[in-house]
Amino acid sequence: MLKIGKTYEIDIVDLGHKGEGIGKFEGFTVFVEGGLKGDKVIGKVIKSKKNYAVADLVKVLEPSPQRVEPRCPLAHTCGGCQIMQLDYENQLEIKRNTVLENLTRIGKLENPKVEETIGMKDPYYYRNKVQFPVGLDKNNRPIMGFYKKMSHDIIPLKTCYVQDPINDTILDIVREYIVKFNIKVYDEKTHTGNLRHVVTKIGHYTKEVMVILVTKEKEIPKLKYLIDMLEEKVPGFRTLVQNINPQRTNVILGRENKTIYGDGVIEDTIEDLVFEISPLSFYQVNPLQTEVLYRKTLEFADINKEDTVFDIYCGIGTISLFLARSAKQVYGVEIVPDAIENAKKNAAKNHIGNATFYAGKAEDLIPKLYNQGITADVVVVDPPRKGCEEIVLKTIAEMKPKKVVYVSCNPSTLARDVEILKDYGYEMKVAQPVDMFPHTTHVETVVLIERV
Ligand code: SAH
Repeated sequence: MLKIGKTYEIDIVDLGHKGEGIGKFEGFTVFVEGGLKGDKVIGKVIKSKKNYAVADLVKVLEPSPQRVEPRCPLAHTCGGCQIMQLDYENQLEIKRNTVLENLTRIGKLENPKVEETIGMKDPYYYRNKVQFPVGLDKNNRPIMGFYKKMSHDIIPLKTCYVQDPINDTILDIVREYIVKFNIKVYDEKTHTGNLRHVVTKIGHYTKEVMVILVTKEKEIPKLKYLIDMLEEKVPGFRTLVQNINPQRTNVILGRENKTIYGDGVIEDTIEDLVFEISPLSFYQVNPLQTEVLYRKTLEFADINKEDTVFDIYCGIGTISLFLARSAKQVYGVEIVPDAIENAKKNAAKNHIGNATFYAGKAEDLIPKLYNQGITADVVVVDPPRKGCEEIVLKTIAEMKPKKVVYVSCNPSTLARDVEILKDYGYEMKVAQPVDMFPHTTHVETVVLIERV
């Protein structure tokens, strides 16, 4: 066993799923956060077990050829990005490997076809949505930013290299508002105080800005001042929403929204369609890559005017409406009622009459629609991280569509579901990873599955 507090010379031989370096000291496994395959580092042991140890990176003795200087000075402490020190080509490569490895190990596929990850030309400033926790520093001054790696300590943020720079201005304004009116800041340890998070959503093409203040209490004072400041300094500021979250929870948004200014929504466009987005509705966070992802989805779906198509987990109906333009009829299913409200309006806004949307759980609604005699020629699913409920997959198979196009943000549940579908007579043809989240270890994949 290695000694806690002692330093060792470690060769990093691989990169783990969370972006941690997997190293060896005289054949013994040592995990080093921030280490890259090919590095020789000095690590200080912070955890020591019989089979492995965990060490802090003290110094890189010999850098891996894949190592680059991260653009962000906080890259090593901030929990937002895990692999900014890895050159972008290799980021794309490890994402492809993650998909391949999951499909082989969990999906039990032999030599699955996994394409090269489609990356961004300029993988910075891509996020259109950010959630900043609010807290106090040692001197009781308000801070907003991101959580440190593996903790809930807030790193105050001046600028962030993966999100829209307008957020810097928004945070400055909120900070000033907190100080000026002595706004109580939420403390998650004691569950006291009021302002918990500042959430922003920004339309990439429209530049419209939504600011959401998440509060514990029903009231928060002096919002008029905040609105005036936002109006003056944030071009595109369209709406301010207060979201009330009285629960002791890690979930950021509560259920109740109060529109304080504007109409409680922003709009954005994807290619030539326009979409309205509400505070609680999901919308893809990387607009440029969303276009790439959706184009692949449509290419894989390859539908025609005779086809009835399901878009399960449809959010505000983005994929549904693109599908609807080439289909006979589209049915969209989504659990968040506000998102379905958006979807219905979005269909109308874009003059699309052949898309019908239902609010509810896919696991309830899909069997129900099937029992009413509705079936699909092609199915698109885009579930949350936990993947599809088995009853959803089973009912899809009973509908006997030609194809299932599976969009996934989690390769392990994707692989599990691919294997389940295989038992129902569906075979995976190809997987296309798309880099929606540069500098993080997250991977998005779209997969074509066909009926055998
Ligand atoms: N396809 C959409 C949304 C994908 S995100 C887009 O590209 O924007 C996954 C969506 O699944 C979210 O909108 C989430 O609210 C929804 N969801 C989560 N659990 C669900 C369930 N059990 N049934 C239906 N929808 C669900």
